[in-house]
Amino acid sequence: MYVLISACLLLVAAGRTQTNGMNVPLARGLGLEKLMEGMEYLKKYSYIHLDAGKDGNGLDMAMIKSGIGKYQVFHGLPKTEMIDEETLDKMDLPRCGCRDPEFTGEAERDEFRYWLEGGMWNKTELTVRISRIPNLMSKKSVRRVLKQACRVWSSRSPLTFTEVRSGGADINVKFMGTMDHGDRRAFWRPLGEVGHAFSPSDPALPGDIHLDASESYSFEEETDGINLFQLLVHELGHTLGLGHSPHPQSVMYPIARAYDPAFELSRNDMAGLHALYGRKSRARLRNRQRH
Ligand SMILES: [Zn+2]
Ligand SMILES: [Zn+2]
Repeated sequence: MYVLISACLLLVAAGRTQTNGMNVPLARGLGLEKLMEGMEYLKKYSYIHLDAGKDGNGLDMAMIKSGIGKYQVFHGLPKTEMIDEETLDKMDLPRCGCRDPEFTGEAERDEFRYWLEGGMWNKTELTVRISRIPNLMSKKSVRRVLKQACRVWSSRSPLTFTEVRSGGADINVKFMGTMDHGDRRAFWRPLGEVGHAFSPSDPALPGDIHLDASESYSFEEETDGINLFQLLVHELGHTLGLGHSPHPQSVMYPIARAYDPAFELSRNDMAGLHALYGRKSRARLRNRQRH
């Protein structure tokens, strides 16, 4: 926080040296707290690195503007390279805490383009376990939703998911009761970051899915709260090795989508899944359709 405050004050000081104040990457009419809010967000998701500034004060104007621009491009916003209302509105939406990949622009927005987190399972039969769940939540409902979410990925690939109720599992779903839960990826404000997950190659927690236990989750067609099925489909994607996608229709888009009855893998989700694990064989598909 200290770095942020100093950096913001320096930015304002830099702006005051200009007659039109255009050096400060903040839209007219917005207060300094909005700049701090935006910079905190961009720092958290690695769009800017305040302690890597050229001048030793953690301030590198070009890097800050470029970070704002990259965020705007990834999320399909006008590239103003300044913190403005539209950018802040997007930052206000609940999202997954995993980082967004480097995205250079619209030319990359191909419907089959996908991003990988690194790593993949070297087997197709995966086990999944709900390791930690709040007392007030229905285990039965969460199990049912997790099964549905696994089916989204297994129906389009050779992968199978089997739930285990004890012992080790490849994928562990944990509802974390504290914002800071010891993995240096603390959740922040309610409806800020609702969950995050770890790729199969993560050195510490491969296959872990952490969900914020303090959020209000919705099941099936309920429209209030975070839709648990959709969030689990997304986080499962990370545990399979997929990264975020800039396509709003992708299940790997980082911002939590409101309940969508047509929520399904998009073409770029499937392209990534097939690149890692291949397609479901025709024989298995026929077999599945028969049952
Ligand atoms: Zn994510
Ligand atoms: Zn965590």
